[in-house]
Amino acid sequence: MSFCTAINCMDGRVQLPVIRYLQARFGVSFVDTITEPGPNRILADRADVRTVQAILDRLAISVQKHASVGIAVVGHHDCAGNPAPREAQILHLQEAVRFLQTHYPTLPILALWVDENWTVTEIPT
Ligand SMILES: [Zn+2]
Repeated sequence: MSFCTAINCMDGRVQLPVIRYLQARFGVSFVDTITEPGPNRILADRADVRTVQAILDRLAISVQKHASVGIAVVGHHDCAGNPAPREAQILHLQEAVRFLQTHYPTLPILALWVDENWTVTEIPT
């Protein structure tokens, strides 16, 4: 069994596109999924300390118990949890990746954008 980890929005529209993208990207069978509304902003702002910790706690289970081979943070078009425009959400994604890299410096950590056609693209970090 092989796993990676998605820190995804709770939005139902982005679940399958992100899972399918990450299965191919990391060559894994399973994608552990941690969902919050607008997780890129939560991890960039880190104002909601309890939610940030809850994300880290779940991430630790995926990395330690499932030997996750990589992590992705997701932002998407028309997000109810993070209604910021794409340009701001890209900055949130990049800051979220930087933050997660301080916890997991040896794992690949991706920033993913899901557009209005529910197509997934990787954002340079
Ligand atoms: Zn969303």
